[in-house]
Amino acid sequence: MSTKVCVKECELGRGLFALKRIRASEMILVLGGYVITVDQVRAMPEKQGNTVQIGSRHYIDVEPPGLYINHSCQPNTGVMNDTILVALRDISVDEELRFDYSTTMSEEDWTMECRCSAAQCRGLIEDFHLLSETLKQRYLARGIVQRFIVDEHYARIEAARFAKAQISGLSLRKVTRGQYPNAP
Ligand SMILES: [Zn+2]
Repeated sequence: MSTKVCVKECELGRGLFALKRIRASEMILVLGGYVITVDQVRAMPEKQGNTVQIGSRHYIDVEPPGLYINHSCQPNTGVMNDTILVALRDISVDEELRFDYSTTMSEEDWTMECRCSAAQCRGLIEDFHLLSETLKQRYLARGIVQRFIVDEHYARIEAARFAKAQISGLSLRKVTRGQYPNAP
């Protein structure tokens, strides 16, 4: 159990709060728990908000106190190396700790209405891949995106680049043929 946090009531029910001052980049706690599969999560819909995705088919069934951390579209913490909650800036005593759930989500079929009340609230919590490019880059640069999602992200860029190269290769051949219809 981390000595840096406690669980208290907040406007979303319960939340995780700083017990002491936490400095930027400081490790706060490990989001620990048993690893469960996507099928187990789907069989227990009430679990969906209490898990952290660590692979395309695997989740951590997060135990208290990490279980109580809420989402924010303007978070003061992030998850590094899949399970370590770190401070993104200095956090004062009694401040609620929140991370952006989208940095741990690549599910394609699950979204949640956002009630984080941040000035830049996106209104919907959805997959990392659906965030704006600017926000994706900001989170990637800080190292607070799940490792499997980082891999997916670069694989998608590579696939898009390959598809683009194929399309331009095809149109080049078409133009060449059209211009020289009687070429041998
Ligand atoms: Zn929000």
